[in-house]
Amino acid sequence: MAKYVFITGGVVSSLGKGITAGSVGTLLKKRGFKISNLKVDPYLNVDAGTMNPFQHGEVFVTDDGAETDLDLGHYERFIDETLSEKNSITTGKIYSSVIAKERRGDYLGGTVQVIPHITNNIQERLIEAGKDLDILIVEIGGTVGDIEGQPFLEAIRQMANRVGRENVVYCHVTLVPWLEAAKELKTKPTQHSVQELRRIGILPNILVCRTSRPMEDDMKHKIALFCTVPSEAVIEVKDEATIYNVPISLHKQGLDDLILKYLGLEYKNNQPDLSDWERVVDRYINPPATVKIALVGKYVQHKDAYLSVVEALHHAGIYHNVKIDVVSVESEDLESGDVAEKLKFADGILIPGGFGTRGIEGMLNAIKYARESGTPIFGICLGMQMMVVEYARNVAKLHDAHSIEMNPATLHPVIHLMSEQEHIDNLGGTMRLGAYPCDLMPNSRTAKEYGTLKISERHRHRYEFNNEYRGRLEQAGLKIAGVCTERNLVEIVELENHPWFTGCQFHCELKSRPVRPHPLFAGFIGAAVAKKK
Ligand code: GLN
Repeated sequence: MAKYVFITGGVVSSLGKGITAGSVGTLLKKRGFKISNLKVDPYLNVDAGTMNPFQHGEVFVTDDGAETDLDLGHYERFIDETLSEKNSITTGKIYSSVIAKERRGDYLGGTVQVIPHITNNIQERLIEAGKDLDILIVEIGGTVGDIEGQPFLEAIRQMANRVGRENVVYCHVTLVPWLEAAKELKTKPTQHSVQELRRIGILPNILVCRTSRPMEDDMKHKIALFCTVPSEAVIEVKDEATIYNVPISLHKQGLDDLILKYLGLEYKNNQPDLSDWERVVDRYINPPATVKIALVGKYVQHKDAYLSVVEALHHAGIYHNVKIDVVSVESEDLESGDVAEKLKFADGILIPGGFGTRGIEGMLNAIKYARESGTPIFGICLGMQMMVVEYARNVAKLHDAHSIEMNPATLHPVIHLMSEQEHIDNLGGTMRLGAYPCDLMPNSRTAKEYGTLKISERHRHRYEFNNEYRGRLEQAGLKIAGVCTERNLVEIVELENHPWFTGCQFHCELKSRPVRPHPLFAGFIGAAVAKKK
């Protein structure tokens, strides 16, 4: 049976609980334990798939096709494990399964209630997800005191009874703000937040304090005294130059020792080897050169809308030992004016995924500029589809070519709807989702970059390359570099007579890791470095 580390948050949201949870996972895995991470999101959406990126940032997709909160992306990057639908729980998921059981009559006439039916359902999922693991790290989204988080906090409180108090650790991430007027860090919000947790019966073992300034020892003693934890269990997380330093910093403060000690696990003889992370941080902080990448998207105002893309760019930068300056460009701003002038700063251009017509002509202008000027360009999902449209219009001379998502009446639907999806009116979970195999063409640049001919990548889209146009586009010089053979779907296009022009239908950013950049991102940044020189 697994032991559990529960991570809650207090005072404010956006404290980096996900990064703390991922870092704890990294450290415990490196100490030889079989671990995984799970995220609880207290919203009523069944999954994150129907959420606008402006509200909640990127939607992360797992191999098995779950559309999840972006924290699962942090987890995968930190613990380097492939997560699944089981690693993401929402209120919507819990309630729909309990209500479905009620409709089937499974509760035999009983009154169905939040306690015990909802709380039991939550616990059963935590037990199921912990099967075959030594330790499951569970992050509860939101902040202590939120109405919608209550059933989850009650469930994790009860977990101590179910699996034994000695098998659970409660770790509370809280804020210790700096008050400029008083020139002081303040502990009161943390005290109140812990009081709120204690009110519902959870006594935290460890406090992870987010601060903008170093905390003196006497401040840690004070927090320890008021919150009934030992001083060594007051851990500080300062704002870091890179999130990849967080595991190193937490280890230096003994967080992994402490968790293992509380869980009654061996902690003295298996120090983690963090040298790969140290190298990542060192190369992130001290690169000899910088390349500028224009990220031309529709959701650039939200800092997390393209989170995995931005992280994957940094991973490739770490690999090539360059700093990546990601410059967000709102695609709508490229619909008029001098596009070349606006993009000439860029050593490379990336067009990420997206939905709907707004800003599309700006993306097409950026692609045309990159193709004609020899600027490396990388299109992902919608980006790849628009590369096909641009090539069809401007090189194959199929005027008016478009994706039918943007123009259902186009004369040349080079991107169209997959036939099995034509009659869908329920939007949740109806896209082509999750991992599919793809065969690479042996003589393609993409195959060279991957170093293999068989790959598997994750998808999240409705529309597809229209095979009726394949011959005409190939004749015009567009190279098909990858195909999902089982369904004959074009997945990758590239150009030979261009420094780097590649579009992929899948979201390869999701599988990039700080210590192991994705081959296409590595190729793209390699080309951007060459262009800069
Ligand atoms: N809107 C496009 C489609 O549905 C692309 C989706 C995406 O970029 N994730 O196919």
